[in-house]
Amino acid sequence: MSLSTRAGSTVASSFTRRRTVLGIGALAAGLALVQRTDVSSLRWPSTESIRHMVTPPTGPPSFLHRSHSSLAGVFSSLSSIHDPAMASLTAPQQPPKWTHTAQEILDLTKAAIATHKKVEDRIAALSPSECNFDSVFLDLSDAETEFDLINDPLSFYQNVSPSKELRDASNEAEVLVRDYSVDSSMRLDVFKAKQAAEENIKKSGKKLNAEEQRLVEKMVLDGTRAGLALPEEKRNELSALQKEVSQVSLEFSKNFNEEKGIISFTLDELKGVPEDVVSGYGKREEGGKTLYDVTFKTPDIFPIFKFAQIPTTRQRAFEGYEDRLSINTPLMEKMLSLRRQICALLGYDTWADYRTEIKMVKSGKNVKDFLADLEQKLRPVGVKERDTLLALKMEEHKEAGIPFDGEFYIWDYRYYDRKYVEKTLDLDDMKVKEYFPVDKVVPAILNIYQTLLGVKFVEIKGETWHPDVQQFAVWENDAKDASGFVGYCYLDLFPRESKYSHAAVWGLLPGFTRNDGTRHYPLTAMVANLAKPTPSKPALMRHDDVVTFFHEMGHVFHGLLSKTQFARFHGTRVARDFVEAPSQMLENWCWEPKVLEKMSSHYETKEPLSSDLIEKIVKSRYVNIGLFSLRQLFFGQFDINVHTSKESADYTALWNTLRESISLVKGGKFTAGQATFNHIAGGYDAGYYGYMYSLVFAADMYATVFKADPLDPARGQKYREKILRVGGSRDDIDSLKDFLGREPNSDAFINEIFGTGEAKSAL
Ligand SMILES: [Zn+2]
Repeated sequence: MSLSTRAGSTVASSFTRRRTVLGIGALAAGLALVQRTDVSSLRWPSTESIRHMVTPPTGPPSFLHRSHSSLAGVFSSLSSIHDPAMASLTAPQQPPKWTHTAQEILDLTKAAIATHKKVEDRIAALSPSECNFDSVFLDLSDAETEFDLINDPLSFYQNVSPSKELRDASNEAEVLVRDYSVDSSMRLDVFKAKQAAEENIKKSGKKLNAEEQRLVEKMVLDGTRAGLALPEEKRNELSALQKEVSQVSLEFSKNFNEEKGIISFTLDELKGVPEDVVSGYGKREEGGKTLYDVTFKTPDIFPIFKFAQIPTTRQRAFEGYEDRLSINTPLMEKMLSLRRQICALLGYDTWADYRTEIKMVKSGKNVKDFLADLEQKLRPVGVKERDTLLALKMEEHKEAGIPFDGEFYIWDYRYYDRKYVEKTLDLDDMKVKEYFPVDKVVPAILNIYQTLLGVKFVEIKGETWHPDVQQFAVWENDAKDASGFVGYCYLDLFPRESKYSHAAVWGLLPGFTRNDGTRHYPLTAMVANLAKPTPSKPALMRHDDVVTFFHEMGHVFHGLLSKTQFARFHGTRVARDFVEAPSQMLENWCWEPKVLEKMSSHYETKEPLSSDLIEKIVKSRYVNIGLFSLRQLFFGQFDINVHTSKESADYTALWNTLRESISLVKGGKFTAGQATFNHIAGGYDAGYYGYMYSLVFAADMYATVFKADPLDPARGQKYREKILRVGGSRDDIDSLKDFLGREPNSDAFINEIFGTGEAKSAL
């Protein structure tokens, strides 16, 4: 993440992380300092991500016994790895060294801050007439890039280094940078220089290219969005409000994270819940009865939603769960009221307009229109799915002799969704896994990307942060000399102690053009935690893991194949509501029979997946997708509703009524579910629509360009050129239109869901 975008708001912006899969709502992840694109929004919102998991999650995988043999040979079947012609090429840029000491991490960070500050001081001291594109914008951009080149790798150590000392130093460095970023983003003197330079550029008639013009606009916008264009009195008012809203958000998230509620059941009430789950509950005697204490943590409470046969047990569990954070109810009211005041001060009609101004969607109204349109299209699918589940419920109630009132309740959803999946899919996750050994799947996926995008991976040796890390130099596949160099890619794929425990991609170095016209090349790193081998089986991946890996590699290539003038616009530095779309599109490859066959190989028989298993996998993709999507739309509607309304409301009533009308499941008594909606405290405010939004574009891109021939390199080149190369150097909607050859729409997404998706050939 570039320095300028680090401190855009006093409320920490955050990506939800994979770990949030295990809790309702995301934890506020804090300010993501190194640019990271992670898997979260792929499965986000978190509660739904485990919807088809038949067994309850059992916590993070153990990583202490992995044998190094799992690494040997992982890449031996990568097509380019032993390409002698490629191996003889010399890259024009050396990979960075990873030999820092803790002291060096801190010293270098402090020095980078001092250097950056010196540049800002110099710019601030310019007289208005001396302010121009070169003296202000170019110098600021250079300083920021230099800063990131030093700092991003240093901030990264905390996620991957085996040394506690280095991780701590890296953490400490991040705090220094965060504090400095806030100060830097609030410099009125620098903002004035930017304003003067912009004015002078206009007056002089100096011709800037499109990317330079964009740099000017974005840099000025950073300042106006921070309130620097306001008179002093208003600025002070703004600053006080921002501090207050930041406090309230933190308190909201703290309550969320520290919630310790419990709900108790007798063993009879827990009928249906797997024994191994029940045995994990706390047990106590009260009034002559044995009670089981169930916390509201996912591994405890979700099995009740999914397995408890007695409807009143599910109802009580659900209502307790929804109400567990009612302490946050007044905090949400306060937070929303403060946001209304802030956006009014800044001159925006609504908070949603302020938040979406820098996104692809652009305005709160566009979000509303998008959600309403999709809701109306998805409703018939949802109704059909709900009726199917209701019939299942009726049947079960009849058999068990339980009264049936003809309603489908919110606490029935996960229970009958699970039953339906078990009844109709007959898909054994464990069986499928046997066809996805890590040492087959990883190179197969890299080979697919190599062919599709016209590049080659050449393994290189050198020191990194850990011996497990594989280093690759990436070249154009027709490279004859240094000019065909693309960048570096590091894969840190296996679990170990104290390592970042999910899957994510870090852009460690950006690509950009130096002022002398030479290129600086990017470095991206994927950090994952692929399965470990057991004594009897090699490391195997679930289909879900395969999808995740494919998705993450999509971010890697976004970081590698972007070629912009300024680092600020490199790769995944696109709008937040677009950044997942390319990778969501690429997930489609993992649902194509032809591709599944190519990337699978049974660990014993070496056979690819049978067509029968492939069919089941494909069928599982959209089971109950209508109800799932409508639930997403409900969260999105609540979020945009409260952030576009000008007045306070009864948010508990709003939450419950919206849920019932959009997600098509009946509620019971009103519960304060909005008080558990941590996304809107932790950085996703007026942003929840983003998951469905990017999914719709992903479907459109795939159906329009790739579906007819997903492995066609010509289509891959088009994708490289129109989406990856340009990064954030133009509006994402323009890239999308350029790629599609028209305005995007939701037809492909809807067709997919209705099962009427047809391949179009638009190349
Ligand atoms: Zn992602």
